[in-house]
Amino acid sequence: MMRIGSGYDVHRFGAGDHVMLGGLRIAHTHGVVAHSDGDVILHALMDAMLGAAGAGDIGQHFPPGDARFSGADSRDLLREVVRMVAARGFTLENCDLTLVAEVPRIASHRDAICESIAAALAVDRTRVNLKATTAEGLGALGRSEGIAAQAIVLLREVDSA
Ligand code: MG
Repeated sequence: MMRIGSGYDVHRFGAGDHVMLGGLRIAHTHGVVAHSDGDVILHALMDAMLGAAGAGDIGQHFPPGDARFSGADSRDLLREVVRMVAARGFTLENCDLTLVAEVPRIASHRDAICESIAAALAVDRTRVNLKATTAEGLGALGRSEGIAAQAIVLLREVDSA
């Protein structure tokens, strides 16, 4: 059996000199305002995985008011989500991720980000695809007030045989 899930996340830019994307630190003129490390790609991915597994969302499992997750490395949270999904009998078939941002541009980091995500998921690199687009200057994202990410995930049931 296969199950599909989608995820979306957005974070506002704030003070700082880098953003976390797929577990990598990318130098930027701003950071993001967030309780954890504000990694929009991983947050969208986790929500998509939880959605596909019928296991709620990251706000339920990692409440933003919970001090345990203050400044959390989202790769640790992702590994926990992988365990939750596995406990329900599923593994990741593939994920397709889209970053929506005017800045920073990630073309030169794309392969490294995919490698980082695949490592955190403990899957082959070929199961992770990352796309990037801009908002064409439209709206808050277009004014470079923040960054957003979308994720689509397909989970595959692990054979119990
Ligand atoms: Mg988030």
